Amino acid sequence: MNYPFIENQDKEVADALEGEEKREEEGLELIPSENYVSRAVREAMGSVLTNKYSEGYPGARYYGGQLYTDVVENIARERAKQLFNCKFANVQPLSGAPANVAMYFALLQPGDTVLGMDLSHGGHLTHGHPVTYLTKIFKFVRYKMKDTTTGEIDYDEMRKVAIQEKPKIVLAGYSAYSRELNYDAISSIAKEVGAVSVMDAAHIAGLIAGKVAQNPFDHGFDIVTTTTHKTLRGPRGGMILTRESEEIAKKIDKAVFPGFQGGPHMHQIAGKAVAFGEALHPSFKNYAAQILKNAKAMEAVFAKENVRMIGGGTSNHLILADVFGSLGVSGKEAETVLDEVGITLNKNAIADDTRSPMDPSGIRFGTPAITTRKFTEKECSRVAELMIETLRNKDSKEIKNRIREEIRSLAKAFPIPESFV
Ligand code: PLP
Repeated sequence: MNYPFIENQDKEVADALEGEEKREEEGLELIPSENYVSRAVREAMGSVLTNKYSEGYPGARYYGGQLYTDVVENIARERAKQLFNCKFANVQPLSGAPANVAMYFALLQPGDTVLGMDLSHGGHLTHGHPVTYLTKIFKFVRYKMKDTTTGEIDYDEMRKVAIQEKPKIVLAGYSAYSRELNYDAISSIAKEVGAVSVMDAAHIAGLIAGKVAQNPFDHGFDIVTTTTHKTLRGPRGGMILTRESEEIAKKIDKAVFPGFQGGPHMHQIAGKAVAFGEALHPSFKNYAAQILKNAKAMEAVFAKENVRMIGGGTSNHLILADVFGSLGVSGKEAETVLDEVGITLNKNAIADDTRSPMDPSGIRFGTPAITTRKFTEKECSRVAELMIETLRNKDSKEIKNRIREEIRSLAKAFPIPESFV
């Protein structure tokens, strides 16, 4: 029993937690935005710091008793700056969406324009999806891929739109895009039109920290927003980094608190500090490199089996596959059938998808969590084969049962580690 106190007083919740532990142990997690944190990060998240109010920033708080909160927040900030090679870090955003909202409010006035990635080409909801309140306040204009078979962004079009629309922010970043961006091109377009360049690195922060993906700050970007819980393998949370402008960093701090949030979640900031310490450990670079190798191994199987991948494959941790176009199985159905055999991933719209978002053409999957489990290329190729076999035999109970058993034994052979350093 991992939750003795909850078990003692609240059996229903304890049972759900135990059930989730079993689900995570026995299945394979391929959702590219998920990962497993260390027990050390979980200890921080369950620590006494959840008791504390700390409105303000280290050295300038609105409440007393900040001896230890200041220590923890300063450690998190220093480690974040070291990891991403920048001068300023705000580690208080509660998650990725609040980080982006605070960033917009720091830099924009109502009615101002943001140039961001088209949502069906990989951009995130917070980059101006009409269902968000952000679109009632700011204007979002778009750039796209020039060619969905290579994933190359149309930088000429981006420049044209930037000159025409005069955005205050040029926003890069994505949640369903599998190639590297040309940061030099993007930051120079931003400079040309007098905009601030921002990269939402939520998905690839761990790849940047692990030095296997380019760092946007090395290519002149002004700001990076990110989550801390995906490839970076920390607690669920967000942060905003500023390369060198103190003026921008001050605006960001004001926008996070008191502009948008109240008291920071200090237990979560302690979790960030611990996770950033893990990401600074030399072994994290090997982890990040293996994420890429594993994604390439899965790409090879999908290519061999003629399943179309948006962008023609992957240069990062994720793959977006057109399962409807290639296998005649919709994204929703693929998600359900793969769940039945113990593989968790998500349905996803593909570029300019003509199907509905609730039942799109694609699936999105990635390797951060299985790489934490120490899967190598060999196991990842096998998982990719099993995925395609499942989709090709979605109505065969017998085949699905056999695959379920193989997935279960793979999961058993690679238990979720408790520590990474
Ligand atoms: N930005 C990007 C690129 C994301 O992929 C996500 C989450 O998937 C977010 C922001 C939002 O993060 P959160 O769900 O932590 O609010």
